[in-house]
Amino acid sequence: MGMMKTYIEEAERSLLHTYNRYQVVFDHGDGVRLFDLDNKSYLDFVSGIGVFALGYGNREYNAAIKRQVDKILHTSNYYYNVPAIEAAKAIKKVSGMDRVFFTNSGAEAVEGAIKTARKYAYLKDGRTDHEIIAMEHSFHGRTFGALSVTGTKKYREAFEPMIGNIRFAALNDIESVKANISDKTCAILFETVQGEGGIHPADADFLKEIRQICDEKDILLMLDEIQCGMGRTGEYFAWQRYGVKPDVMTSAKALGCGVPVGAFMMTEKVGESSLKAGDHGTTYGGNPLGGAAICEVLRQFEERHITDHVKETGKYLYEVLERIKNDHPEEITDHRGVGMMQGLEFDHSVADIINKALEKGLVLINAGTNIIRFLPPLVIEKADVDEMADILDECIS
Ligand SMILES: *Cc1c(COP(=O)(O)O)cnc(C)c1O
Repeated sequence: MGMMKTYIEEAERSLLHTYNRYQVVFDHGDGVRLFDLDNKSYLDFVSGIGVFALGYGNREYNAAIKRQVDKILHTSNYYYNVPAIEAAKAIKKVSGMDRVFFTNSGAEAVEGAIKTARKYAYLKDGRTDHEIIAMEHSFHGRTFGALSVTGTKKYREAFEPMIGNIRFAALNDIESVKANISDKTCAILFETVQGEGGIHPADADFLKEIRQICDEKDILLMLDEIQCGMGRTGEYFAWQRYGVKPDVMTSAKALGCGVPVGAFMMTEKVGESSLKAGDHGTTYGGNPLGGAAICEVLRQFEERHITDHVKETGKYLYEVLERIKNDHPEEITDHRGVGMMQGLEFDHSVADIINKALEKGLVLINAGTNIIRFLPPLVIEKADVDEMADILDECIS
């Protein structure tokens, strides 16, 4: 603990205190395990908040990144580069979207989606007072546009005023959405499965009805797949489970598996009549390093049949968490989610359980104060689920 303690103290002197961090310094990883500076091993059920989907110390991934580092890291979006072209092609293939814009983060992808919606509507009627409907308890990122559509007051309040003309409806309550629609509405935006808000999947009927409303009124359906996408629910993107396609979607987190990338994508129809040359840009977004990471991630997804694995092992995780819930009926009030994105809701704060688990070598994360969120690397095996369950059981009892 000596070295770790020294670093943690230094961190608390130097880093801006925007996180209450767990008392651990992770140093390296191997598969689904993390190691701290004292070489203590931890089973990881967080994967850096749904980022490191393919496991740590992934040799082929590391080699692909190193190859690109040795070749070239950056040019500029004023020139073409092969990794970005290949990455866009690969994303189109798995998403069925037609146009891709690369960013460096999830929040930036959401910013781009918002700009796309406003420009699309502006080109139709020339008005500058269009509205976006977002959902309560949503999370879309910390920049101003993304924060403005984030339906959690505590994230926003101190930073008001937000960008204007955002209305909030309740996820899975179609009437609350309808009540907010007007001739100014240009987009309806939500996470297909709410992550930070506590693992709340959109209902199939809700999604289908929204799609229908959007079609009738030429409103854009925009799905944030930054956390729930990239295989996490057993499909490349969570909306593919419903057979309902968005007009615009966002991705990030596991898209780069560690290299900071994001993207927003759209159908040809939206691409043709929204952002044009000069409307949007980024220095780093879509650079060769990010492109190489995305290509390698999607290559491994295909080669290793990741979505099939998530379907199978995710079902097992569901059964195991269901058993844990039934074993603790006095404390655990709900179990939700799908694939490798699940949550257990408690009738009390889960901070103690998470801290105890960390001591016992299991990394878990909360969503809100009373939900434990399970976002393991997508490559976990059933034996890892069993090991997690044993430790969790001990920590609850
Ligand atoms: C994490 C997240 C974001 C923000 O992504 P950053 O890369 O942190 O900017 C946006 N939307 C959802 C659903 C997320 O989970």
